[in-house]
Amino acid sequence: MVNQNRTPASQAATDHEPTINKIALEEHFSIGELLPTSAELEFFDPLVLSEIEPLLPELAEQRLANMDKAGIEIAVLSQTAPGIQAIAESTEASAMARHANDALHAAIEQQPRRFRGFAALNLQDVDAACTELKRCVSELGFVGALINGSTQGEYLDNPRVDLLWSTLEQLDVPLYLHPGLPTNQPASMVKELDGATWGWSFDTATHALRLIVKGVFDKHPNAKVILGHMGENLPFYLWRLDSRYATTRYRNDIATTPSAVFRRNFLITTSGVCDDAALQCSITTLGPERIMFSTDYPYEDIELAGRWIDQAPIDPLAKTMICRDTARTLLRLG
Ligand code: ZN
Repeated sequence: MVNQNRTPASQAATDHEPTINKIALEEHFSIGELLPTSAELEFFDPLVLSEIEPLLPELAEQRLANMDKAGIEIAVLSQTAPGIQAIAESTEASAMARHANDALHAAIEQQPRRFRGFAALNLQDVDAACTELKRCVSELGFVGALINGSTQGEYLDNPRVDLLWSTLEQLDVPLYLHPGLPTNQPASMVKELDGATWGWSFDTATHALRLIVKGVFDKHPNAKVILGHMGENLPFYLWRLDSRYATTRYRNDIATTPSAVFRRNFLITTSGVCDDAALQCSITTLGPERIMFSTDYPYEDIELAGRWIDQAPIDPLAKTMICRDTARTLLRLG
């Protein structure tokens, strides 16, 4: 059978009427100072990039119209990669995180029914980042934080970052672990596979697994991490992960199997993956209650993402959960 979901976005029909009011969680913007440089996104086809770039700072009519095409009622916005994580100097990172979060707050104030925010965090200074996270959640009404990969090569299993996990638990908000710019690519990487094609998923999935095997969730059992891109391929890999982890001489004394931790502490979004087979696999391995709709705007075709989930051949109750209900409960959107 031909999989219609593999139809390129440019060939997709445009007369679709969205059928579910959705909440989407991986929707990017950028303040002018943090717009990705062409060097940072050099793997993009320049023509594709020229269409995306003008959409990043735009937080008004065009974005709302695009959300409407996909039936998205609420978009949770986040500063795009590499963002704060790419800033080498700690004081500058702190000031810029605050600036990006204030700009996002101003946009939310303009559209309080349509926008929410994930905080950008300056983990170059963990104490300052936790203070900023508390400000964003308690004073600005943000619903969590989004981190773009490692911060200057440092991953979130580093004990130095422990206060971040305590603060997330205390505030009871999730951390969205989004790809950033990997600092150490495996020797096998080639340009054709770098970036969003494969390299970012490899780095982000490894980042997530580091959190599990280093025991972050034994210490912080209530921490919640969201992975985009249908879980960065991990839902497909859970059985082998457990099987081979049980045989490595380097395994740590974590309380349960890696897959059990993944199922307990992680949620995933559908961002950038409009594939029925991948969705079915994730529903089977995680349950629909741990999957949430997202689009990865403006890097992906928002209308295609909305039409795909509206037409996905899954149970209607599961679909409502994925499109809206889980996010509403997790982010306490009322
Ligand atoms: Zn993204």
